[in-house]
Amino acid sequence: MKIAHITILSYGGYQLAKTCVVDNQKIGLMAGYIRIADGDICRPHWKAAGFNVTTDPTKLAAQVLAKEVKHAVENGENLKAQLKAKEVVLIQGQNAETESVKQMLIDKGLAKFNLKDKEFLQLSQTIASDETVLAVTSGRLNMTNKSILVGTDRRIIELRNLVITSYPLRNITELTYLKLGNLYIVTSGKKVFYSETDKSTAADFVNIMSSKLY
Ligand SMILES: [Zn+2]
Repeated sequence: MKIAHITILSYGGYQLAKTCVVDNQKIGLMAGYIRIADGDICRPHWKAAGFNVTTDPTKLAAQVLAKEVKHAVENGENLKAQLKAKEVVLIQGQNAETESVKQMLIDKGLAKFNLKDKEFLQLSQTIASDETVLAVTSGRLNMTNKSILVGTDRRIIELRNLVITSYPLRNITELTYLKLGNLYIVTSGKKVFYSETDKSTAADFVNIMSSKLY
């Protein structure tokens, strides 16, 4: 089947055409696209990476990264199978060490955020066994899906759509809680802004973590 690439520059001032993360080609308006964690992908490339177009977009798209899907398509690999395999390894990797980190997260109030087992495990495995969890909160990064923020004695960890981002404390120059439940982190000269933070924990999170900045 030939896929028509329709180029639409703008309409009423809005950029309507999406660009596929695999080949940077515009995706025709009628062709449909799938929104992944950090971009959009056309349906043919989504299928080429091993996914179906019916249930997989809602179940898996949010945890797929552009670089992963590009790699899979370019190398003829099945990314869906790789994701499943990784999940099995994650679950098998659950051991006493991650259990003690998990307990530390629960003690700091993470349980109230209703994390999926997979997310809990991912955080537990990210945090080193000699790292101390100091505070936990949540918020929306740039109005996107909810992120969990975990402050430790070394860094602030963000978990969003099963993707972990670490901000080492030594790179953070400012951490501020604003009225109306917003907070921002200035890290390596970049301002990372969170809105709709968790009311009962965000201010404490900022107080506790600010005192740890260099
Ligand atoms: Zn494509």
